[in-house]
Amino acid sequence: MSRQPDPVREGLARGWRVLGGPHGALPGRIDCDVAIVGSGAGAGITAELLTQAGLRVVLVEEGPLRSSTDFHQRESEAYPTLYQESAARKTADKAINILQGRCVGGSTTVNWTSSFRTPQSTLDHWRDRFGLSDFSSDALAPWFQQAERRLNVGTWLMPPNENNELLRRGAARLGIAAPMIQRNVKGCWDLGSCGMGCPTNAKQSMLVTTIPAALERGASLLVQTRVQELVMKGGRIEALRCVPVQLDGSLASGAEVRIVAKHYLVCGGAINSPALLMRSGLPDPHSLLGRRTFLHPVVISAALFEQAVAGWKGAPQTIYTDHFLETQPIDGAIGYKLEAPPIHPVIFASTLPGYGQAQADLLAEFPKTHSLLALLRDGFHEQSAGGRVTLRSDGSPVLDYPLTDFVMDGARRAFLSMAEIQFSAGAKVVLPVHEMAQRYTSWAQAREAIAALPMKPLLTRVVSAHVMGGCGMAGDDKRGVVRPDGVHWQVANLSVHDGSIFPTSIGANPQLSIYGIVNRLATGLAKRLSGRDVTLA
Ligand SMILES: Cc1cc2nc3c(=O)[nH]c(=O)nc-3n(C[C@H](O)[C@H](O)[C@H](O)COP(=O)(O)OP(=O)(O)OC[C@H]3O[C@@H](n4cnc5c(N)ncnc54)[C@H](O)[C@@H]3O)c2cc1C
Repeated sequence: MSRQPDPVREGLARGWRVLGGPHGALPGRIDCDVAIVGSGAGAGITAELLTQAGLRVVLVEEGPLRSSTDFHQRESEAYPTLYQESAARKTADKAINILQGRCVGGSTTVNWTSSFRTPQSTLDHWRDRFGLSDFSSDALAPWFQQAERRLNVGTWLMPPNENNELLRRGAARLGIAAPMIQRNVKGCWDLGSCGMGCPTNAKQSMLVTTIPAALERGASLLVQTRVQELVMKGGRIEALRCVPVQLDGSLASGAEVRIVAKHYLVCGGAINSPALLMRSGLPDPHSLLGRRTFLHPVVISAALFEQAVAGWKGAPQTIYTDHFLETQPIDGAIGYKLEAPPIHPVIFASTLPGYGQAQADLLAEFPKTHSLLALLRDGFHEQSAGGRVTLRSDGSPVLDYPLTDFVMDGARRAFLSMAEIQFSAGAKVVLPVHEMAQRYTSWAQAREAIAALPMKPLLTRVVSAHVMGGCGMAGDDKRGVVRPDGVHWQVANLSVHDGSIFPTSIGANPQLSIYGIVNRLATGLAKRLSGRDVTLA
């Protein structure tokens, strides 16, 4: 593995401008054309396009710069160094565990590569309810095509691993369509440790694509540096105030840096982006900031099979079904997408219900364990308003996400659907991930028991790796924090380019929605700032 080329280390050796943490002390002041907060999905696409337009770009990332040489397929290394709050970020009542990246490349460095365009039904809803009339599938198609080409999104041609194959088989026996998932990989080794960073650089994350392209064109990258505040004067942002931070996010010694730019881009991801705007006291005349933050709340069903499943091995998510999204109206009872996620020991043990001998027994059967997840499509119904970001006394964000009866009704239906598919695939035992669930040995027994389970927060284990909203986009300022072109409704030299601009959840894994939509926004911004036409390389 150590003999694999490492394009990041090679770039550093060639003289990329990277400062912060082990890369060198920060200067007191930096002047540039555009300052970008973050280095994830939205930031990467934006940085590539703006540097192509000849603009002087500075990216500020609070996490570290890690690259393929550092990725050893070990959970114990990955979670503390690559994830927000060590992969244990919790909602206010601790009922939902949230996975989000915190490193160069953001969540794209650790994500599982599933790539879907924004569904037509989601875009129709945005047009009807949020005035986003120019966001049709046809209008977005060229922007998605470019992003797909740039990031090598394509059909996965290797056989699914057993974990995914069981979803395909169980669904097929019930007459439920379960197609293949497209992935953004090039020369993938099918290792299965995408969530710990790709050791072979096959995953086409921002870490190996757009960020290197921007650095080659002279962009600067500050790492282990947090943007603490957007400093406002006379209705415009006049600077970023940044502080050095340690690997765990606590303050590091060293002076503040002030970055002065013509235009500022907030790309810190949902939760962190609205929090930064709040910390900075930005105008919010209609009290929208931090509200309508969505998670695709996820519930999980485990199952035991006779044969080895080895859910840690091979491409993580390659089969899905939208059957339970498409068989009901988008603004009716909450629908859900089913996928088969990777299963690794630490994340598995910390998500499983129970304790003591019962949990030890379950862990002993880890190699034969299968897992399905249901992504609940939140944000489309009046009883599904998502969560709200607020600030703790130290300025850090916390998300209050009420798991309402409306959402939990979807969780119960999802547990039922997943159990039926698992039994249909030949499971000996199905165990919904819920504190009061038992091991069920038949579909009839599971159906009756799941119908009676109390669907309450903390009893039902809920997780999420899809954080969206909080700085929603809309066709008028009463419904959105940013305009349809990504510019802040009240602050003309500030744009938001990340998952926080979505007015609802996507109803599909969100990365490609961010790449495609931000591609359009950043291309327009590049033209306005430089007069030049640019295209994602
Ligand atoms: C484990 C996991 C698996 C996933 N799997 C998939 C998948 O298979 N398919 C899919 O479509 N999506 C997946 N996702 C989700 C997808 O990766 C995210 O939706 C997407 O990357 C979000 O992009 P973003 O630009 O909003 O923010 P991010 O990519 O999260 O980037 C934000 C960056 O900004 C930095 N930052 C935040 N605030 C500040 C600040 N104040 N100062 C400096 N830096 C700051 C953060 O540290 C972070 O690095 C997954 C996510 C995770 C965590």
